[in-house]
Amino acid sequence: MSRNLCSGAFQTHPSTMMQTPHAAAPPVPTVPLFGLALPELTALLAERAQKPYRARQIFEALYRRRVSSFDEISVLPVDLRERLASDGYTIGLPEIVQSARSVDGTERYLVRMADGETVETVWMPDGDGGERGDGSLAASEEAASEAEDEPASSFRRSTICVSSQVGCAVNCQFCLTAKLGIRRNLTSGEIAGQVAAVLNRHHVKLGGASGSESPARINLVFMGMGEPFLNYAPFMQAVRLLVEGVGIPESRMTVSTSGIEPAIRAFAAEPIRPKLALSLNASNDLVRQSIMPITRKWNIAQLLDAVRTIPLRTREWITFEYVLLGGVNDQPVHAREVLHLLEGTRSKVNLIVWNPGPGIAYTQPEPEAVALFQKTLMAGGMPTYIRRPRGRDIYAACGQLKRTVDSAPLLQSATASNLVSIDVPAV
Ligand code: SF4
Repeated sequence: MSRNLCSGAFQTHPSTMMQTPHAAAPPVPTVPLFGLALPELTALLAERAQKPYRARQIFEALYRRRVSSFDEISVLPVDLRERLASDGYTIGLPEIVQSARSVDGTERYLVRMADGETVETVWMPDGDGGERGDGSLAASEEAASEAEDEPASSFRRSTICVSSQVGCAVNCQFCLTAKLGIRRNLTSGEIAGQVAAVLNRHHVKLGGASGSESPARINLVFMGMGEPFLNYAPFMQAVRLLVEGVGIPESRMTVSTSGIEPAIRAFAAEPIRPKLALSLNASNDLVRQSIMPITRKWNIAQLLDAVRTIPLRTREWITFEYVLLGGVNDQPVHAREVLHLLEGTRSKVNLIVWNPGPGIAYTQPEPEAVALFQKTLMAGGMPTYIRRPRGRDIYAACGQLKRTVDSAPLLQSATASNLVSIDVPAV
């Protein structure tokens, strides 16, 4: 039985049940089906004397059709649907409970899990700019679309930014999510379920969906709240479900890590995996330790050694994300050190201009410093891009989302202070 089924996280709390006087039968604990792989569904159905094709029907309904209730799985006999419900099973898709829309069409959602915990997920209707220069199909599409000035309302090449944990334990000093600390890991269903919930909200039909004449091209970036590689097994199960079930190619997915060296090595051996982005953010261990304390556990050299074990596919490059902090890591000497570090690696650099956040004592880099940093890297032969400073800047390198439900209305936070833009001189 899967981790999801064993978890008590979705069960009604016993103390709540006991406090209800004269309660009738206690509520039946519920377990979500969303998140289970085909072998797990097959085993679950076999326990109920059902043939494997019934599991495949449920798998198809959960992931390809993204149903939200048993009633929608009409291929299943009514008595089987009733049996699953009475045994406590639910579909278990996370629910979007708040949203905010930026002027450029970017939407930011508060997504609630069955136990009431929430994470943030972001929909970028014209991509996030992160694919530029990585050699992929998504990058070519983005360049073509930019040339054609495609309107933001199109979701033909949208990007969804997905969270992997509630909060984060890594404690990067420039990151708002770090302020939350870690509350818990998300399950595979909760990670993949964010994608399904957002696709359903926008009525997106993917290739392979019946009746889809013009399938959307959806890119995923696992750069929301949390460190995916500290929640490795559920994260990878979510990836497989999104590829094999939902129908999003792995080549359209990018995971960003702060640098969990053993997980990078495990990732290198995965038969199905997204592209990798390493959140580098510094050119030497001294600076990186000061802004990313996890560097004391795995230094830059160890991380780069691990990254180099990844067998890159055709048109695949490693992305190095680099959040520029004024006066900390944004000088030409740092750029030259980055060039030296990445020598011989098939890679590109994404520069992200840091956004001010409450309680974080850094400053934004000067536009001239950003331009010079990019120019220095490019002069050294490194493809270097600056993330477009639009609504997508409500998040950054490997997840700068902050859960706002406890502090300020989501709409307010997403339309005011976080939507920062600076003018970067042409290089
Ligand atoms: S930048 Fe990423 S890894 Fe670092 S604290 Fe924020 S969410 Fe966690």
